Amino acid sequence: MTRVNITDVILRDAHQSLIATRMRTDDMIPACERLDRIGFWSLEVWGGATFDACLRYLKEDPWQRLEELRVALPNTRLQMLLRGQNLLGYRHYSDDVVEAFVRRAAETGIDVFRIFDALNDTRNLQTAINAVRASGKHAQGTICYTTSPVHDTATFVAMARELEDMGCDSIAIKDMAGLMTPFVTGELVAEITRATRLPVHLHSHATAGTAEMSLLKAIENGCRHIDTAISAFAGSTSHAPTESMVAALRNTPYDTGLDLDALQEIGLYFRDVRKRYHQFESDYLGPDTRVQVYQVPGGMISNLYSQLREQGALDRIEDVFAEIPVVRRDLGYPPLVTPTSQIIGAQSVLNVLTGKRYSTITNEVKLYLQGRYGKAPAAVNPEVQQQAIGREAVIDVRPADLLHDEMDRLRDEIGELAESEADVLTYAMFPEIGKEFLKQRSSNALVPETLEPVGEKEAARTRPTEFNVTLHGESYHIKVTGTGHRTLDNRPFYMTVDGVPEEVLVETLDEISLEEKESGSTSGGSRRPRATRPGHVTASMPGTIIEVLVSEGDTVEAGTPVLITEAMKMETEIQAPIAGRV
Ligand code: MN
Repeated sequence: MTRVNITDVILRDAHQSLIATRMRTDDMIPACERLDRIGFWSLEVWGGATFDACLRYLKEDPWQRLEELRVALPNTRLQMLLRGQNLLGYRHYSDDVVEAFVRRAAETGIDVFRIFDALNDTRNLQTAINAVRASGKHAQGTICYTTSPVHDTATFVAMARELEDMGCDSIAIKDMAGLMTPFVTGELVAEITRATRLPVHLHSHATAGTAEMSLLKAIENGCRHIDTAISAFAGSTSHAPTESMVAALRNTPYDTGLDLDALQEIGLYFRDVRKRYHQFESDYLGPDTRVQVYQVPGGMISNLYSQLREQGALDRIEDVFAEIPVVRRDLGYPPLVTPTSQIIGAQSVLNVLTGKRYSTITNEVKLYLQGRYGKAPAAVNPEVQQQAIGREAVIDVRPADLLHDEMDRLRDEIGELAESEADVLTYAMFPEIGKEFLKQRSSNALVPETLEPVGEKEAARTRPTEFNVTLHGESYHIKVTGTGHRTLDNRPFYMTVDGVPEEVLVETLDEISLEEKESGSTSGGSRRPRATRPGHVTASMPGTIIEVLVSEGDTVEAGTPVLITEAMKMETEIQAPIAGRV
């Protein structure tokens, strides 16, 4: 059998890579009948960042999306991307949560589980692989491809053998950053095909403009399964276009057998869909060869753009790209993929914005340096490790071995808001936004973010009504919402600051300002506290306060943690800048 099989990623990775994972189920369903007739080996439809985006932005129940897709795609294998022991969240879960999640996903409609670990630590894959096999579904073990002084073909071949021994049905080479070059790919595929009996699936992003060449070289060297995206969402940080690969292989020994005319119709449909999401497009379309230097995966590039834009620091993006390899080396060269891409991305942003490397270290970097994500591919920088965790212990067992069963606790915590086991798992993945989602759903208050009408972006460029202001190290997002009539001397402008009325903001900031011990004076008069004196607590980047660690009247030392904030999906401890009283 020489036929090449295609996994189309239009409903998951393609829009995750190009429009920040925003495609709505309503835009997917109308294409499903056609997609289902094509004869793809599988359609990747779920997992990755889709779960998060559904809850956070689209206000859709991700489980319901899967149910609807299962009904609409009865004849095609449905595939998901699963982060091993992290599932779809950003931490390690206990084995009983992993088992419950896989069982539920299999029951709801997933046939193929592509399972990876950001550190390629196979201990973090075993529970998920076992659970998939127990559900009678296809377990695809994944190698996260990267380049570094400690990664080469032999390393990856050894991992492929291990995945075969662990019971995987196939092996995926996941080139999330688009780093693979054609000849290296050919060699790697040939070696893995020789070393194992399992089919090899190649997932390579088009970021650097090498994907089609790499896919072809892989095919010539024995790969019979490639990932592509319908052309409307192909190229750039996404994947090689499905139609192009089908055309390229037609009437060759590798013919995919897929109908190009039928694919064209689907492509035209998604061209229109994409227009609706123009506000999420990256400013950088087309081949981006910087990835060959910085190894920043597609999803991460578009995320960094939108996050830095929110911080009003888009002009620092080149500095952040340059910082990423430094942080990556200090952390022992992990591949850059969720969650290590976020961990390293956020720390790099902090290093750049604070102007002092590791002056602020995220909680996730601390956990990473304690071994709580698994074993780093190479030794970590001992100085950074010391600075981050002090004398706290480093673990060398599988991280989940230290976790107790969690399902009962999660079920208790979420209580009546959960109408099903799926809801409990939603809460497990995202305690904050998951709970918020379930609350809003129970009170019929789910409101998806609004999409700008087509053409609006152009208008906004010529008439600025939204901008960021940075004041004493704090960035504020200002949106002018209206203007009043001009009176004799002035004219009122109405605006929102970070999307909320100013008064609310004052209350929030008051709680966390410290009075200096000596003077004990308060900043008078001003309606809105500003970081003007040494005792004022500021964060390096705007975020959500998720925990206040001190109470009014508490005495603190310089460096005492006072708050935990969340920004860029990472938690950061904010410390008191001076000794004083809260
Ligand atoms: Mn990908």
